[in-house]
Amino acid sequence: MKKKLMIDMDDVICNGGFLHLVNKFTNKNYTLNDFEKYFLQDIIPETKKEEWINFFANNNMYERACFIGSAFETIKKLNEQYEIFIVTAYLIKDGIQISGGVLEDKFNWLQKELPFINPCNYVFTDNKDIIDCDIKIDDKLSNLTGNAKIKLLFTAYHNKNLTDKELNKKNIKRIHTWEEIADILL
Ligand SMILES: [Mg+2]
Repeated sequence: MKKKLMIDMDDVICNGGFLHLVNKFTNKNYTLNDFEKYFLQDIIPETKKEEWINFFANNNMYERACFIGSAFETIKKLNEQYEIFIVTAYLIKDGIQISGGVLEDKFNWLQKELPFINPCNYVFTDNKDIIDCDIKIDDKLSNLTGNAKIKLLFTAYHNKNLTDKELNKKNIKRIHTWEEIADILL
């Protein structure tokens, strides 16, 4: 039986789309290195939040999403050896009511960009601790809870300050690239 591998989508498989929309809305030119906190939209003032949610609802962030490094090639190879589950959150902070549209955009991107992954193995949830897999890869520390033998934290703007000591305590290993994932899992 193939081992079960959970892979997160945003900031692990792809990125750039959300940042593009934040830049378009604020008319700025931020890069991910300008952020330390998880929610990029926190730089938008409270008074503009409603406008932001409307803007976000009318745009598809995955139109501008790009694969991170060799994610595509590596996932294709991993797919031959593992049963892959794409486990991705879709609820938009301060805009739960528009989250259905995000779910649709995620589904369409996965279908188009990773056509070899069985859609039965898409899991759309914000509660990733319910997932029981052999291996979990995510950029958000709190998503690496629950059962797994190997837990890999993918380096991202918001998790750079977590120390190896902290991660070791939770039995989590930091990885920076898809090449490192290939070295560990292939
Ligand atoms: Mg993520």
